[in-house]
Amino acid sequence: MEVANLEDGETMAFGPVPSRCLGKSLGINNIPPKTCSYSCVYCQLGKTTNMTTERQIFYRSEDILKEVRKKVDATATRKEKVDYLTFVPDGESTLDLNLGKEISILKQIGIPIAVLTNASLIWRDDMKEDLMKANLVSLKVDAITEDLWIRINRPHENLRLNEILEGIKEFANEFNAKVISETMFVDAAVFTVPFALGIRINSFYAVVAV
Ligand code: SF4
Repeated sequence: MEVANLEDGETMAFGPVPSRCLGKSLGINNIPPKTCSYSCVYCQLGKTTNMTTERQIFYRSEDILKEVRKKVDATATRKEKVDYLTFVPDGESTLDLNLGKEISILKQIGIPIAVLTNASLIWRDDMKEDLMKANLVSLKVDAITEDLWIRINRPHENLRLNEILEGIKEFANEFNAKVISETMFVDAAVFTVPFALGIRINSFYAVVAV
């Protein structure tokens, strides 16, 4: 995939919007729709059209910085508060090869950085290194059994649930900032195994799909 031009990236920064766990969150859309390693049954963005586990550069980091800065300045003019700059794209945030670099340059703005991820690549060392730079990381855990994971998240064939769960444990133990977890409870899904990963999570959020 070619790096998109700035004109294509008009929605790279949006909000701020109120968030249950992040306060006023200014969103960063660093992934083109709909590029993801999952195709969750409940996804509000519809079917995954670019299913991949390959990290790529989608936009120029300087374009993302420019757009976010513009949005932050406009928000400041309206005297609105921003609690977090949040990577929450139209796909999986960590597929962006420049994620770590973008977090580093966005820190110049002086607002904490959050990343929402489906955690599917968290077993990779480069992934953990990138996420370590954030102030808050939200990890999706919808299932801890293979059967439920495949039925709810419909993962890319390269992914292995045991590697992901191990990666989550390692990351949560090493990460010094805030880590939270989100789980979608899906109607008619039977949770026969309790959620007990034995990891440090600051907050847990459940969302119910009906
Ligand atoms: S991980 Fe997120 S973006 Fe990807 S399919 Fe699931 S809900 Fe949609």
